Amino acid sequence: MSAEIIAVGTELTTGAKLDTNSQWLSLELAEIGVPVRAHLTIDDDLDAMADAIKLAASRSEVVLITGGLGPTLDDLTREALAKMAGVELVLHAPSLEHVKQMFAKRNRPMPERNTMQAMFPRGSEVLPNPRGTAPGIWMSVPREAGDASDGERVCRIAAMPGVPSEMKQMFRQQVLPRLDGGGRVIRRARINCFGVGESQAEEILGDLTARGRDPDVGITVHEATITLRIMAEGASADECLAKIDKARDTIINRMGTLVFGVEDEELQHAVIRLLNQRRASLSTAESGTGGLLAHRLTGVTGFETCYKGGVVVPTTAAKRDMLGVDPMLLRQYGEISEQVAGVMAKGCRQKFGTNFALAITEWGLFKPDDPFAPVPASFVALAGPNGLLVEKVQHFGDPEIAKSRTAKAAVNLLRLHLIGG
Ligand code: AMP
Ligand code: MG
Repeated sequence: MSAEIIAVGTELTTGAKLDTNSQWLSLELAEIGVPVRAHLTIDDDLDAMADAIKLAASRSEVVLITGGLGPTLDDLTREALAKMAGVELVLHAPSLEHVKQMFAKRNRPMPERNTMQAMFPRGSEVLPNPRGTAPGIWMSVPREAGDASDGERVCRIAAMPGVPSEMKQMFRQQVLPRLDGGGRVIRRARINCFGVGESQAEEILGDLTARGRDPDVGITVHEATITLRIMAEGASADECLAKIDKARDTIINRMGTLVFGVEDEELQHAVIRLLNQRRASLSTAESGTGGLLAHRLTGVTGFETCYKGGVVVPTTAAKRDMLGVDPMLLRQYGEISEQVAGVMAKGCRQKFGTNFALAITEWGLFKPDDPFAPVPASFVALAGPNGLLVEKVQHFGDPEIAKSRTAKAAVNLLRLHLIGG
């Protein structure tokens, strides 16, 4: 059994909005072992939609559609389904009652157009929508014999609202129970690392990331964070989890301290946890990152017990007034220097009276058109009870991620110090 997903809406085809529904649905289908063969995105055009649904239904046993169930003239999923199946639209009285009630609850008169949301292709089933006005549609259409030789004779189609929260609830409550997963189960896990490039990580992991292995281990990078994605397939969840545990052990073994967390954990989660475990405190001084480091640290639950505050010091005056950095020193070494990073960190540690302080300098201009221009670099410094650590962060890649990378490099400097000592 395989599936296709159709996202409907001109706002999607024009690029005004990103289709996140198809991604979410694909991950959900993978969980029950249904591979997704195609994602289609169609504008609000009746014929194009009917054609797309027909094509998808001829190729796959399951077609999931999102969007186009609203009350406005451009919401055409109902009509497209009826057209594709060659049936008419009929009124479903309980659904009309539901739509009326939704309006009554909000103290608003129901526009005539909303009656459309209670119309369904003859022979289809109604998927209730407790969160919104638009009910979903469930229907089966025969597949053309020639195309169906490999699979089932019918294609099962679900049409759901475009609003992601409504779609997710309807999928889990109404659609998922109607799909059987073909007996295979898929489970996933993520392991997050920082401190090496993608190709280096691949080298360290060796055979583990080879294609066609079970479990499958893939590498993705986002703003210098490397994520190892493990996907295991089996007859049961337990079988999958056992495979994942084994792969996870091997990865941690090979990657060592490059690993900082799992699933949605970021470097700042790891560092706040380590600081709290050691009852240590932290403050920050940022020049190039404009407060990004402070923003990230304060986004972690429980940060208040260890993070005591931070300053943004983009100018010479701010560095002098807030951190006591001697302007002579700035002139002597330059704002972007190991020395200034160190003095900023020490000044910050003193100002806030914390065990540790992290400081970040600016970096030079990116000159993508000049191959001989020096690579922009920033300095991150850690001041602590045992002295000073400074690291140079070179920005070879995308200038867009320089802030993010530098903030991460600073957090990682502290993380490695905390787990090392
Ligand atoms: P519709 O059901 O087409 O009226 O869409 C309702 C809302 O959901 C609109 O704000 C859409 O932009 C949004 N939406 C529709 N399809 C998607 C999608 N595939 N991914 C994310 N949002 C969507
Ligand atoms: Mg729409």
